[in-house]
Amino acid sequence: MTQTVETRLRNAGYRVTKQRTAVYQYLLSTDAHPTAETIHLSVRHRLPNISLATIYKAVDSLVDVGLVNRIQRGASSARYDAAVKDHAHYRCIGCDGVWDAPHDATPHGTPQAFEVVHVNVEFVGYCADCRHQKLGLEPLNAPII
Ligand SMILES: [Zn+2]
Ligand SMILES: [Zn+2]
Repeated sequence: MTQTVETRLRNAGYRVTKQRTAVYQYLLSTDAHPTAETIHLSVRHRLPNISLATIYKAVDSLVDVGLVNRIQRGASSARYDAAVKDHAHYRCIGCDGVWDAPHDATPHGTPQAFEVVHVNVEFVGYCADCRHQKLGLEPLNAPII
């Protein structure tokens, strides 16, 4: 894993810095799909002097080498996810929450030489809380998340 992140960054012309490594390790450790601000708050525990601008640069480089997925829709803040290829997302219209959705849709005919690093599929709807609080509807029986 560490070798992968270092190799990928270096081969793409990025310096392997402790900031980039710390951001990546934090993203691997969470499934909360944090914003850059949230990443900043967490990584600051380990690297007290790290700036938000550095967080943005770190995630940009990680996105660029395919290790992290940027999830962005409309005007809401971008969310970041360590790229695990076989999952999609549920996104709630009400609270903008993002949750992983198991999804293994390797497209037919994908050339073997093409490395899929993220499946960018979103299932948009309402989480149980928003369905209840915003729409006044009972929760669905099937577990949504
Ligand atoms: Zn919601
Ligand atoms: Zn995800």
